[in-house]
Amino acid sequence: MADFDLIVIGAGPGGYVAAIRGAQLGMKVACVEKEKTLGGTCLNIGCIPSKALLNSSEKFIEISKHAEEHGISTGKVNLDLGKLMQRKNKIVKQLTSGIGFLFKKNKITHIQGVASFVDKTTIKVSAADGEKNYSAKNFIIATGSSSIAIDSIPVDEKQIVTSTGALALETVPKSLLVIGGGYIGLEMGSVWSRLGSKVTVVEALDRIVPTMDEEIAKEFMKSLKKQGLEFKLSHKVTSTKVGKSGVDVLMESSDKKQITEKYDVVLMSVGRKPNTDGLNLEAVGIKLNEKKSIEINSKFTTNVEGIFAIGDVVPGPMLAHKAEEEGVACVEFINGQKPHINYDIIPAIVYTSPEVASVGKTEGQLKEAKIDYKVGKFPFMANGRALTTSSTEGFVKILADTKTDALLGAHIIGHDAGQLIAEIVTTMEFGGSSEDIARICHAHPTTSEAVKEAAMSIEGRAIHI
Ligand code: FAD
Repeated sequence: MADFDLIVIGAGPGGYVAAIRGAQLGMKVACVEKEKTLGGTCLNIGCIPSKALLNSSEKFIEISKHAEEHGISTGKVNLDLGKLMQRKNKIVKQLTSGIGFLFKKNKITHIQGVASFVDKTTIKVSAADGEKNYSAKNFIIATGSSSIAIDSIPVDEKQIVTSTGALALETVPKSLLVIGGGYIGLEMGSVWSRLGSKVTVVEALDRIVPTMDEEIAKEFMKSLKKQGLEFKLSHKVTSTKVGKSGVDVLMESSDKKQITEKYDVVLMSVGRKPNTDGLNLEAVGIKLNEKKSIEINSKFTTNVEGIFAIGDVVPGPMLAHKAEEEGVACVEFINGQKPHINYDIIPAIVYTSPEVASVGKTEGQLKEAKIDYKVGKFPFMANGRALTTSSTEGFVKILADTKTDALLGAHIIGHDAGQLIAEIVTTMEFGGSSEDIARICHAHPTTSEAVKEAAMSIEGRAIHI
């Protein structure tokens, strides 16, 4: 008889959620995690610590630069970086130990160690105190992802760091080069820029955040520039040399001009790769695609019966909420249910200031697919609540089908864009139209009125502009 009904490998948002859902459905579940703490990338070195630092650094700017306009005098504002980091660590500890509590509550066996497959029904777990085999009827691989490394830019997590090192710098670097204009680099760049670093972002493409709506990306870059970040688009870093006084970085522009610049710290943020090494997947013959992600079908089954995979280790956007949805749906499939995930409606948010949030199609994608669409836009400058909170930057943009008025996408740049997108996500999930949003009563004064007005502007009937 198998030791467990289900063994989940990895306790990130995909894995721990799958384990809890399995236990809720009456399965005997174990979750193997190689790190000492639960919660995976998201809770330990990703979403949560980065948002804690973003919040602290935003408060630093609010108090040091904007208190005056409210008639509040503060004198010189000092930064205690150690304390700021302690707050972040405390939040991480609270949340990761919370997962341990949830495991106990749901009677999930937590096994600490590195898992690898022995055969289709057995894994070996290697830990400090030895090795042990466990068998199960079903396995879910939820081993997540890690930062992509490039040989010519060797990471030491001190002078050349990944996001993990950038979340734990002990001093504010005078200068920071962020390699890669994606959301993780821009969030971490924002944190250190607010705390006093001169931040430069180098991006090989001719734009930042390449998957985002182009108009929003332009506005976003304009805003970050105003905050002091510098951008080198169409530039590639070809090599780095670490010295006592900083890192010499050799870059090449798209027209082959070479420049060398010196930075105190370099952040490597060029993307993430699935964690498939070390699992001994060869032993069971699990297929990977060309990007080394685990290939799955629409029910999260790998090519081997009884072995499933979810989250960052499978294709699709590398986002915590996508991993969580897959964790639940995968276990429900194993349980014989018929869950569904709508991959066209997965929101994505950048937690900078202003925030950037999007769902559904961009204008570029609609043009490419030759879908006729209407655009509704509304600026926060014309929104009463935004004025009262001095957050008038940005706008809401809604895209709807020309014929049916069905919502096709929405893109928001603004102070609380990440919260505002939820209404549009919900409406899209219910197959709603721009008229649906336009006819819903939105509380006044709130920034959600800008969403309503953007929807109204699709038919040229926005009131406040
Ligand atoms: P992970 O969270 O990576 O968890 C996988 C776990 O498996 C890890 O704990 C790992 O130790 C364990 N593991 C790996 N191999 C083995 C093995 N052989 N045996 C045992 N255990 C193993 N996403 C968002 O949605 N919003 C955000 O704001 C956001 N911010 C981010 C900021 C940063 C700096 C980073 C790096 C990422 C961010 N992400 C964000 C992405 C998010 O963290 C990931 O998409 C999410 O954690 C993926 O969940 P997962 O469960 O698939 O994998």
